[in-house]
Amino acid sequence: MNIIFLGAPGAGKGTHAQRLMHKMNIPQISTGDMLRAAIKAETELGLSAKRYIDAGELVPDEVVIGIVEERLAQEDCKNGYILDGFPRTVAQAEALKGFATIDVALNLSLPDEMIIRRLSGRRVCLKCGGTYHISSLNGREDCEACGDKLVQRKDDTPETVQNRLNVYNAQTAPLIDYYEKEGLLKTVECLGTVDENQAAVEKALNL
Ligand code: AMP
Repeated sequence: MNIIFLGAPGAGKGTHAQRLMHKMNIPQISTGDMLRAAIKAETELGLSAKRYIDAGELVPDEVVIGIVEERLAQEDCKNGYILDGFPRTVAQAEALKGFATIDVALNLSLPDEMIIRRLSGRRVCLKCGGTYHISSLNGREDCEACGDKLVQRKDDTPETVQNRLNVYNAQTAPLIDYYEKEGLLKTVECLGTVDENQAAVEKALNL
């Protein structure tokens, strides 16, 4: 199954995509993770993407379209994949049509105030992609899964979070209508615990 996860930053796309990846044994393809890895490795891609990411802006379409097309051509995507954070513009969705057949676009829906609370308390592991919220860490500063130090993403600071939400509303939210018209949209209200929301995600996918 080829799945798109739609939803505002902080709606839980990464968390649920990772859980689904283990359950379905298909890769999670996160453009945000790929770009952050490129920044860490100081590649040309990373250097050009950094200023957009730090400001909460979108990286230009042609850049992300290229990396996703290349990634989906790899062997491990043959039996399906979960796109997490792509597409983020209608132009990306149109380009995706040219090299992929999507089965479902799952929209994770959450009120803005919850998103802001989640993002500003988020701590991440840049090594394995683990994501936590400070309220559940009890002062712990390292990743439970791999032991690496947890950090706050530069783009999770309050000033940048608001900009990311504006960018989401202006450029990404139109994809909800787009996939509705394509007949591929399913919406999951993510108001419960992570386990409850995950159960709702799996139900929407008939798993
Ligand atoms: P994320 O981890 O998905 O929240 O992505 C972090 C940042 O990476 C975004 O705020 C954008 O700057 C950039 N990014 C990730 N995916 C895309 C995309 N599909 N198009 C443009 N920029 C992206």
